[in-house]
Amino acid sequence: MTAAIIDGAAVAARLRSEITREVEQMVAAHGVRPGLATVLVGDNPASQTYVRMKRKACEEVGIQSFGHELPADASQEEVEGLVRSLNADPAIHGILVQLPLPGHLNEEAILNAISIEKDVDGFHPVNIGRLAMKGREPLFIPCTPHGVIVLLEEAGAKFEGANAVVLGRSNIVGMPAAMLLVHRNATVTICHSRTKDLPEVCRRADILVAAVGRAEMVRGDWIKPGAIVIDVGTNRVDDPAAKRGYRLVGDVAFDEAKEVAGAITPVPGGVGPMTIAMLLKNTLRGAELAVSQLA
Ligand code: NDP
Repeated sequence: MTAAIIDGAAVAARLRSEITREVEQMVAAHGVRPGLATVLVGDNPASQTYVRMKRKACEEVGIQSFGHELPADASQEEVEGLVRSLNADPAIHGILVQLPLPGHLNEEAILNAISIEKDVDGFHPVNIGRLAMKGREPLFIPCTPHGVIVLLEEAGAKFEGANAVVLGRSNIVGMPAAMLLVHRNATVTICHSRTKDLPEVCRRADILVAAVGRAEMVRGDWIKPGAIVIDVGTNRVDDPAAKRGYRLVGDVAFDEAKEVAGAITPVPGGVGPMTIAMLLKNTLRGAELAVSQLA
């Protein structure tokens, strides 16, 4: 079998053009242009790149972006004070605090300070708590796990009663992805570094989501024939032949897996582009919430 390749870049491009249309409709109908504030503390080059990409993506769909940069030694009070001022600013509908924060800052307290109505990353404990509860809906779903679900839908996944295996239990990917799958009535197994017989657990998966950060850990013979595989992992491996000296690979050995799976996401070009598209969608949703409160 050769798997269908799930083209995350194409799905994200489609979403971005829908969002562009909806942003202009909102401006025309309510005179409100969605706005995203980014908060970057320190000068971590990867974080700077992520923030730049997010702000550029905003511009392309007509969302205003407001960049705030604080020095690496900014105090807890300064960062929380900035977040509180953004909470109060009516031009801002989403607040994104780029993680990781410098070690001296209390990340939990800073994320807690974001108004849940502007929590476009979906990391506020109230949003995560609602995601974990039966019959409750979060205001915002975390972007990467939401992208995973959209790609599964795109691949025609039948969630109800499916065996879904999620590799990884982080707050930002594995755990919320598992909760979203439970909401769709899949039977979910969450694996982590202490899981025994990982290949055997994976072989039972109709849906396999890999978010561990270990280059090509999941081999072809771990995959059930016909399974849908979503590879969240983004790992650099040395490659002297590549211009930058490295290339990006996922957590799944793609060449092996594509011979067994029914459908699979590539890395790059799978989940990565979806994360930013879902952030734009959440910012639009933040503006919709603000408009509905004006009515
Ligand atoms: P974390 O490091 O926070 O979590 C990794 C998880 O994988 C942990 O739960 C850990 O277990 C588990 N794990 C680690 N090693 C193993 C192993 N050998 N066997 C089984 N489980 C293992 O990572 P993130 O969730 O933040 O990210 C995961 C990957 O996804 C990374 O490659 C990251 O770059 C990528 N990513 C991609 C995004 C995108 O937009 N495409 C967005 C966010 C992340 P334990 O809990 O026991 O430590």
